[in-house]
Parts: sequence; structure tokens; C-alpha cells
Amino acid sequence: MTASTHQCICGCGQTAFTVSAPALFRIYCHCTICQRFNDAPFADVLIFKRDDVVLPAAEAVSFDTYKPPPNVQRGKCASCGVPAVELFDIPLLPKLVMVPAGMFGFQDSLPDAAMHLFYDKRQADIDDALPKYSGFLPSQWAILSQLWSARRRAQ
Ligand SMILES: [Zn+2]
Ligand SMILES: [Zn+2]
Repeated sequence: MTASTHQCICGCGQTAFTVSAPALFRIYCHCTICQRFNDAPFADVLIFKRDDVVLPAAEAVSFDTYKPPPNVQRGKCASCGVPAVELFDIPLLPKLVMVPAGMFGFQDSLPDAAMHLFYDKRQADIDDALPKYSGFLPSQWAILSQLWSARRRAQ
């Protein structure tokens, strides 16, 4: 991502918001919740700090909690239903926002994904050189280490 401010917009145009800094990193997540939320074999999402995202208008997005505790809110455009934004408020972590790659108009300028998570839940094998993590703890640990190194880069 070269420009520091980027516009995200859904297909119907109702859900629009901006990110004001580059993504921390990008992941492919194969967990069953992501499969369900995205109606796809895996999620392709960019992770931002909450402070770097101007969230869409509350009425544009319908949020759902797919699994307790309710610290992850996944939102779809209330009008066209595409996965639009996911809010992560997890204890001990900075507040994060995940934005599906499909919300960005310029796919070429997005960073390459860093890893596959919950690869044990995959619907199909993926033939690439990215690290692949299976299971809850290894996947959580991989996210944490990425966050730490992204933070170090930012300082
Ligand atoms: Zn997932
Ligand atoms: Zn829409």
C-alpha cells in the first residue's frame, strides 16, 4: 500500500470508510467462522490498528457476534451483505480492525499475505510458500508474533 489514506467501499456503495495508515499485515484465515462469515473457503483480510480506521456509519453495517465472548464483532454491509469490517477488542492486545481485501479497490497495492491460519480447517490445500499454522494456539501465537514485529517496525 503506497498511499497512506485508502478508501474502502462495498459493491453497493453504502458501506464506505477510510484507513489512514498501511495495514499491519495481511492474513488468510481458514477458521470455520471466517468461512461462514465470508461464505468462502477462507478469509483474506488486512489488519489495522483501530486508531487508523475511520469506521463506517453505524447504520451502514449490521454487526454480528459469531462466537462468545462478544469481543469480536463481524459486520456486513446492511444493504448488499458483503463482509465489510471486523472489530477485535481482545484483552491484552491493541484494538484491531480487520478489513476484507475485497473492500479495497486497488488489489495490486495491497501487501502480500503473511501466513495461513487455522490451516487444519482448510477446505482445500493451498500451494504456496507461506507459513501455515494449524489449531487455535499456534494460530493465536502466529498473530501475536506478527503484531509484535509489526509494532517494532512502526517504532
Ligand atoms: Zn478466522
Ligand atoms: Zn453494500
